[in-house]
Parts: sequence; C-alpha cells; structure tokens
Amino acid sequence: MGFRIPLSRPDIDGNDVKAVESVLRSSMLSIGPKVEEFEKRVAEYVGAECAVAVNSGTSALHLLVKIAGLGPGDFLATSPFTFIASANVALFERAFPIFVDIEEKTLNVDVEALEDLLIRAKKGKLDICGHNVDVDRLKVFMGVDVFGQPMDWDPTLKLCEEYDVTAIDDSCEAIGAEYKGCRVGTFGMGGAFAFYPNKQITTGEGGIIVSSDLEVCKLAKSMRNQGRGEGDGWLYHVRLGYNYRMDEMSAALGVSQLERLDTILDRRAEVARRYNALFENTPVEPHHIAPYTTRMSWFVYVVRLPEGINRDRIVDYMAKKGIQTRNYFTCVHLQPFYRQLGYSEGMYPTAEKISKRTLALPFYNRITQKEQEEVVSTLLEALERVG
Ligand SMILES: *Cc1c(COP(=O)(O)O)cnc(C)c1O
Repeated sequence: MGFRIPLSRPDIDGNDVKAVESVLRSSMLSIGPKVEEFEKRVAEYVGAECAVAVNSGTSALHLLVKIAGLGPGDFLATSPFTFIASANVALFERAFPIFVDIEEKTLNVDVEALEDLLIRAKKGKLDICGHNVDVDRLKVFMGVDVFGQPMDWDPTLKLCEEYDVTAIDDSCEAIGAEYKGCRVGTFGMGGAFAFYPNKQITTGEGGIIVSSDLEVCKLAKSMRNQGRGEGDGWLYHVRLGYNYRMDEMSAALGVSQLERLDTILDRRAEVARRYNALFENTPVEPHHIAPYTTRMSWFVYVVRLPEGINRDRIVDYMAKKGIQTRNYFTCVHLQPFYRQLGYSEGMYPTAEKISKRTLALPFYNRITQKEQEEVVSTLLEALERVG
C-alpha cells in the first residue's frame, strides 16, 4: 500500500547508483574486493579489530551465538522489547530464549532486572515456561541498543563477567551510536549491525559482525562461507557452515552509504529535534535519551501516546490520511509463536505496559518540516477524535 508519508525511505544518491553499476560492469559479483573494503571501513568506523559482512543482521546474530557456543539445552537472555531476531537466534540452535524486563526511560534492558535474574538462576530458583534455568547453561546475554540508543553497557558487562555469561551486542539499530564516548558494537564478544532498507544506512539486505577478537572474525568468515577453512579448497569443509555471504553489489552500496553515515546521522538527529519541538506542550511524549548516550543514532522516531489510548484506531486514522505509523514493538514474548513456547501476559510488566503506548512515526533523512508538521497535527487530531 502506498503512503503519501511513509514510515521510512532509503536515502540513495547518484554515487550509490554508480558504485553498484561499476560492480555490475566488473562481472565480479560475489567474493571480491568490495566486501573486503566494506569490512575494513566498518571496522575502522566503529573501532573494531575486524568485521565480517553477511547477508542480514539476523545471520550476523546467528553466527555470533554459534561462536559463543550456544547449543541445545542452553539459555540466551535478551530484551522482550526488540525485533524478534534477537531472541529467535537462540531457537535456531535449540537453546531457549528468556527475557529481562526493560526500564521505562530508554526502553533498554533494566540492568537491575538482569542482576536479579542472574541471582535467581544461581540459586536454582529461576523457572521460565517450565524450564529450570541453571546459571551454568545461561550462556549468552544478547544486549539490544533499541531504536539507536545504547543500553547501559558498563554494569551489564560487569555482571556478564561475574556470572560467566557471554555478552553479544545486537546493535542492528544503532550503527554510530556512542556510549560514554565509545561507538557501540564491540562491547562484549562481538556485535552486529544491519542494513535492511529502513535502517540508517542500507545494502538492500545485509548485516555485519564486528569484534575486537580476531578469532571471532575468523570463525564467522568460515561459517558464512559453508564452513570452508582458511586457504583450503572450494569443496573442502571443516565445520558446519551456511551461505550467509554478502554479494559485491550490496557491499559497494554499503561502502558508498558509509561515506555519508555521519551526515545521515546528523540529519536524522535534526529531524528528531524538529519532532521533539513540535510535540512540546502536547500529550505526546518523545523518546528519552540517557545521560550516558553521547551520540544517538536515530533509527526510528517512537513516541508514547497517553495511557489508555486506542492505538489501533490512531494507526487507522493516520493511514486514511496517507500517513504510515506502526506499533514498535509488540513484545517478543507475546508474539503468537512465543505464546506457543509457554509465554503469556504479565511476565515482563514494564515492557508490556509501554509497548501498548508506543508508536513509530514517519522518519527518514529527507522528510520535510512541512511533512513533519502534518504528521504531528494529524496525530493530535486523531487523539482528539478517535483516541
Ligand atoms: C533490524 C534488526 C535485526 C536484523 O534484521 P535483518 O532484517 O535480519 O537484517 C536484528 N535485531 C534488531 C534489534 C533489528 O532492529
């Protein structure tokens, strides 16, 4: 369905088109220099030792949990307020995903709730959906930097170390974000960025692993390429692998987009600032930014509607006016598939309470002031008429 003012829109310029065209004319469409260049540039940008480009953010997270040794009977803890892939990668490995409730302001995992969960697991008193969660089998904590804001990494990493849990950074929404002056991605064993067309920069489909550990990248390179060993033959496979390779057209687009990343992030911050100003003195609450966030990498612009509002009717009203909005996020544990695993309402009350009120508004680099004014006035009108 076409919206006059869509939720997101990729920002593709002439140089992006030229970069992809030149790959097409080179006839080297996969396993070539562009993927290597993209990896080198992303690693430099985030201050990582190495990077491994793959065909989606989900693939990046999957390889990371495999490298962390997550397997059948293990547990992975993550946020219930995230995109489903953060939790699903545990199920890919026959491990069970469990959740840690979020804190009200940033909507990231509440570190106190994480500590509480670890203490209960250590006492053998953590029972979730019929699984007794043994702390020794709680292998991975998947931290999420939701909407482009880092979670509180310092105390998180300390807890992970204390309880011998491998931390992974699902930074798929947060490329370029800074936590206390450091770019996100390399906290813990490794991190992932994603480049689907609604993200800050895109490769079409695509993702990348970053790490400060060369061994992590070495394993990821082998696993994305059917488990081939370094320097071994094309039909020689030393471990279980996948075809998670990024192609050269995508990588060329990524290199070209990455050149503009800082400009794009500044632009998105400006768009967010304009929305924030338009919502002043209205019942609509903009997103909270924590003091430790020294740079926000705006992914989506999510507001909180007043409590008790009928959000579905608001979404419909906006859609009839040609404006696309979406309820970011429905809690992962309340998705139909997760209910089948034994999850139900009431298990993560803060996430549940807030996710009833959150709404993503149209947000892209080239949205105009006029379009933003229309979004805000239509939303306020909807609240009065159908809220
Ligand atoms: C976008 C995203 C991913 C990965 O998405 P892909 O569509 O597989 O590239 C993972 N986690 C979060 C939190 C995301 O927003």
